[in-house]
Amino acid sequence: MRYLSTRGGVEPVGFATAVMMGLGTDGGLLLPETVPRVGPDTLRDWSGISFRDLAVELMTPFVADAIPRTDLVELIGRSYAIFSHQEVTPLVQVGEQRVLELFHGPTAAFKDVALQFLGNVFEYLLARHGGRLNILGATSGDTGSAAIAGVRGKERIRIFILHPAGRVSPVQERQMTTVLDANVHNIAIRGTFDDGQRIVKDLFNDLDFKQQYHLGAINSINWARILAQIVYYFYAWGRMSRGDPGFRIDFAVPTGNFGDIFAGYMAKRMGLPIDRLLIATNRNDILTRFVAGGPYAAGTVHPTLSPAMDIQIASNFERYLYFLVGQDPETVRALLSDLDRTGRMEVTAEQRAALAEDFDAAAVSDAQTLDQIRETYQRHGYLLDPHTAVGVRAARHRADMVCLATAHPAKFNDAVHRAIGIQAPLPTCLRGLLEKETRCTLLDATEEAVRDHIRATLAAR
Ligand SMILES: *Cc1c(COP(=O)(O)O)cnc(C)c1O
Repeated sequence: MRYLSTRGGVEPVGFATAVMMGLGTDGGLLLPETVPRVGPDTLRDWSGISFRDLAVELMTPFVADAIPRTDLVELIGRSYAIFSHQEVTPLVQVGEQRVLELFHGPTAAFKDVALQFLGNVFEYLLARHGGRLNILGATSGDTGSAAIAGVRGKERIRIFILHPAGRVSPVQERQMTTVLDANVHNIAIRGTFDDGQRIVKDLFNDLDFKQQYHLGAINSINWARILAQIVYYFYAWGRMSRGDPGFRIDFAVPTGNFGDIFAGYMAKRMGLPIDRLLIATNRNDILTRFVAGGPYAAGTVHPTLSPAMDIQIASNFERYLYFLVGQDPETVRALLSDLDRTGRMEVTAEQRAALAEDFDAAAVSDAQTLDQIRETYQRHGYLLDPHTAVGVRAARHRADMVCLATAHPAKFNDAVHRAIGIQAPLPTCLRGLLEKETRCTLLDATEEAVRDHIRATLAAR
């Protein structure tokens, strides 16, 4: 499979180059040149198989030029053996709704599904083609721990994760700093998450530094992350349809950067019989307003009880935009330049109609989020984390929808406690964190301080 950029400035590349590139060299996002179609017979064949076997079948056409099938089987086996549920992403019945639990990985959030796979793919490609990778990222909480869990102990990879000192929850901090593998470098900066993001961006823009130190990114713009997430949409369909290709399904997806729901959209383009994809947002509702007919216009970011979704400009939306405008990079560039210049963009009436065919959207307030945690617990004895609660609330009168559960409730026990006065029991991966040994370097929130630290650390290797 060859990959192209949404902005048209990248010569077609194979899977290995696409994964190592992360963000397109032209600033766009990479997408497969053609989307493989899955016909009714194949859908039927896939409906009864395990998550792992399904992942192998589904990913093969996307990765075959870089990873032979026997190696893919091994990579996938290793990526998901670490999950605490044998089904990997089990589908559970909660009242009339179904919840697809995506939080059984090592950091108790859905990002593990993609980052466990990505970590293994990085290691595999580096071993085959030689070279090293130094991953650099900033986190406000969830992504950092999942990224660290994905690459800890891996040869040829080091990871540097910046978090704002004292501004992530104690559990989130410990999930990162208690990982003592020699290739993991936690940096607490004396500043905010925005400072961390700015420093990382500046270092990536320093092309000499980036090349000399083989810097790589691990955020949700990497195509391999989307690919891994397509699998559970097919898996949920298989569990519910029992192989009937006429069976149609709907999903409600708690949305921040649009990566998770875009994977659902890809599943639909591949032929999975999805009717509706519901974009569930918190108060940061740029996407909801856009689907409701407004302009795509960013405001300021409001902190909410579902912090992983406190995002205004959703980076993966560009991938959908590319399809919406008929796979025309020139139009994508024009719209993004409008957004850059004026803070908003507009699409045609026809494109609006197409958008409304693909997606529904609803925004959910913090009060409604707490109310939903309470209601679901009282009625069904099931605990929702605040992100999942946003999705369940958005799908409130849609009993037929499958709601994606993106985090274990114990990861956000403050909100759970506020809603119902008790806390969710900790899963094994979150137990004893506060007593464990930690390692972390405290630095000033400047580019120089972080650059010097990375230099010194890598020189000492
Ligand atoms: C990252 C995250 C989301 C948002 O996913 P996107 O792919 O960014 O839309 C939702 N819930 C949780 C718990 C997350 O960590």
